[in-house]
Amino acid sequence: MTIDDTLHSVRIDDPSNFPPQEDNFERLWTPQRMSYVLRDKTTEKKHEDTHSCPFCSAQEKSDAEGLIVWRGKNVFIIMNLYPYNSGHVMVCPNNHVAMLTELVDDSVILEFEKATQLAMTVMKNVSRPDGFNIGINQGEAGGAGVATHLHQHIVPRWNGDSNFMPIVAQTRTMPILLENQRAAYAQEAARLAPEVM
Ligand SMILES: [Zn+2]
Repeated sequence: MTIDDTLHSVRIDDPSNFPPQEDNFERLWTPQRMSYVLRDKTTEKKHEDTHSCPFCSAQEKSDAEGLIVWRGKNVFIIMNLYPYNSGHVMVCPNNHVAMLTELVDDSVILEFEKATQLAMTVMKNVSRPDGFNIGINQGEAGGAGVATHLHQHIVPRWNGDSNFMPIVAQTRTMPILLENQRAAYAQEAARLAPEVM
């Protein structure tokens, strides 16, 4: 396969390509797998304690060491150590809960989304992105890297940022160092937070 073939066969993650456009995937219907899907998973559940959770341990470190951008009352904003794009942050609840449905207190749910808005505004002021990808992967099957501690991704996007590098070279171009980015975001978040939150 040539590089040209690869570029044409891989769908670049461009929001304008999202449904209703056809995804061109073939569907293989396998209803017999429902017994596997619906099995009792309680016995398989991994009991990961909070000491091995990067989002719990980050809270015990300094902002610079833990890559924390901003700390609220119940949630915080943290840089992603393995960014999808330069400036990728996550909003996490302070408490070690896995699912969005486990945020039961309305004030925490509100703060979670307010912090997402804060992160977007910080990015707009500091990095001037053209768009964002925001989302939560729930459970290992849903693609969550840390499945036991809820985190909402906020990824800034620029026109043309999905270039050929991730496809042909397995490399992402990161124009700014993580700590420099964190410091710039933290400064802007501290300035904005009183009026946004
Ligand atoms: Zn945790």
